[in-house]
Amino acid sequence: MNNSSLSATLISELTSIVGAENILTSTEDRICYAYDGQRVEYVPEAVLRPADSQQISRILTLANEERFPVVPRGAGTGLSGGSVAASGGVVLDLTRMDRIIEVDPGNLHMIVEPGVITTAIINKAESIGLLYPPDPGSMSVSTIGGNVAENAGGLRAGKYGVTRNYLMQIQAIAPTGEAFLSGARTRKCVAGYDLVSLMCGSEGTLGVITEISLRLVPMPKYRKSMMATFPDAASAGQGIADIIAAGLVPSTLEIIDNTTLRVIEDYAHLGLPIDAGALVLVEFDGLVESVVDEESDQAFRSLESSGATTVQQADDAEQRDKIWQARRVALAALSRARPTSILEDVTVPLPRLSEMIDRVQQIGQKNSVMIGTFGHAGDGNLHPTILADDRDEEEMKRVEAAVEELIAAALQLGGTVSGEHGIGFSKAPFLAQEVGEGSMEVMRRIKRALDPNGILNPGKFV
Ligand SMILES: Cc1cc2nc3c(=O)[nH]c(=O)nc-3n(C[C@H](O)[C@H](O)[C@H](O)COP(=O)(O)OP(=O)(O)OC[C@H]3O[C@@H](n4cnc5c(N)ncnc54)[C@H](O)[C@@H]3O)c2cc1C
Repeated sequence: MNNSSLSATLISELTSIVGAENILTSTEDRICYAYDGQRVEYVPEAVLRPADSQQISRILTLANEERFPVVPRGAGTGLSGGSVAASGGVVLDLTRMDRIIEVDPGNLHMIVEPGVITTAIINKAESIGLLYPPDPGSMSVSTIGGNVAENAGGLRAGKYGVTRNYLMQIQAIAPTGEAFLSGARTRKCVAGYDLVSLMCGSEGTLGVITEISLRLVPMPKYRKSMMATFPDAASAGQGIADIIAAGLVPSTLEIIDNTTLRVIEDYAHLGLPIDAGALVLVEFDGLVESVVDEESDQAFRSLESSGATTVQQADDAEQRDKIWQARRVALAALSRARPTSILEDVTVPLPRLSEMIDRVQQIGQKNSVMIGTFGHAGDGNLHPTILADDRDEEEMKRVEAAVEELIAAALQLGGTVSGEHGIGFSKAPFLAQEVGEGSMEVMRRIKRALDPNGILNPGKFV
């Protein structure tokens, strides 16, 4: 049954582009695309599942003629409302475009379509002895197109950087329907404006990414993980800052506070030390075993002298996996604790990390809201997660106040409103506070120049 609000003529034109089996118009189907990982709900008027860049180009050309919004979507795991149709229109589900097109170990690159799942890329690289480092917590579900559009980070970002650092070339369709190419399949490229960087992190507002050439690196042969307990989260934050200040570069450096630790244990039964004030998880990797050993030993000593209550090295792969499983299930575990979880993404300079952790706790107490904090603390990136019940209006007012205070605190400490989850819909009210009106106006001009009719993902950050 077609119960979309698009006209029958338009539905028929869109059907002729993608085929009848790749246009979803029933309410039941469309509701599945009404959410991302956040608490927002906008049911699109139709969902289109294109097979290739030509179909995307035709859809965007039609959208400009008929003036309906188009919202690109990967797996919908985004945490800022980027893939929901906040201003109506159609969702462009890119998951059918899921081919790994080419792997070139000689040039250390892989060419993929946007709908490939991140883990499939990591596994493919691993199968030829190479590493694709960006590993967002959602990697077993998220798509590479979504990772590029959000410039996703991951647990390894402290040493290896974020998605942008692994992009060689991007093919995309402009909001007005024309195909364009940016970057090159070379180690270096300064030919023209850096459109790869413009597209990366543009959250589906400046073009639909249709093909991506990714840079790969040699697979580190050795890994060493350890877990430290601290009496409280602020001292754990200081322990993390001390590791970085000592000149060490762990591949992963994460924090889990006591609230989060308890819900993880309740969820996953990993035998975690639930009485600890906070956990710090550290991993070093590298190509030379003695270097990895030396770095781990230095980090061990640094953690002890920063006041860690215990520091324990993983003796084998099983123990190591347990440590990282604890971190990877953090959000899922928190989401079970109460009906509503609001995940923040504040990021501060490392020397201010411990202060930010203190501020999170004060903000929780002041507004009487429960906050569990975890995150990529080695990057200064924290995910304070407020646990609430959105049926309780009075509680939700306190949650809103707490969110505003968290963001204000991060900005006061010289940080940013989003380290990795993007601005999308939910952070849009806060962006100008960080970047200022001058920067907002430059962004609006770029958007108008590329998308004069406001077709692609309107209502998002600019
Ligand atoms: C449990 C969990 C853990 C997470 N952990 C991390 C983490 O560690 N690090 C991190 O950075 N994020 C993390 N995230 C957030 C999210 O997974 C990332 O932002 C991811 O990159 C989104 O990918 P996606 O395929 O789900 O994109 P979607 O959510 O579908 O879309 C995200 C944005 O990208 C746009 N988009 C998608 N595909 C394209 C395309 N081909 N062309 C143009 N625009 C496109 C959409 O319009 C939207 O604005 C996590 C989310 C969850 C639920």
